[in-house]
Parts: sequence; structure tokens; C-alpha cells
Amino acid sequence: MSNFWDLINIEEFEKRETFSDERWDISFYCKDCRKLVKADRPDAKWYTFVCPECKWEKVVIWTEQWLKNNYKIK
Ligand SMILES: [Zn+2]
Repeated sequence: MSNFWDLINIEEFEKRETFSDERWDISFYCKDCRKLVKADRPDAKWYTFVCPECKWEKVVIWTEQWLKNNYKIK
């Protein structure tokens, strides 16, 4: 199942000039590992996130609460 928020991608975040790790209480969810992960950001200039466990970039970035609700994380 896919919905609107799944369409939020890396490019979208690059456009957010106000994007801030502190202001946005963001978390990372790996679609392959199916859990919250501490994603690496290889290049701080680009919002490219890599799952530290599977090394894929199928990482969804959003608030922890939203991720938990959407992906049914306990
Ligand atoms: Zn992963």
C-alpha cells in the first residue's frame, strides 16, 4: 500500500531551506529492514540517507510519531 507521504522523496527535502534536524524531530525508517534506523548522511550538503544496516537508500524520513503510526511500529 502506498500513499501520498510515500511520495515525499529526497528532492523534496532539498528544497526545504528551513529544514533543520533540531526543528524537525525527524526519524529514519528503512523500508527494507522495516524498522527505524540511524541513517547515515554521507554528504551533509545533500539529503541523501543510507540505511546503516542494509546500505540501501530506501529510507523514509519523517517524524518518529508519523513513522510509527504509518508503519505500525511498536
Ligand atoms: Zn535497511
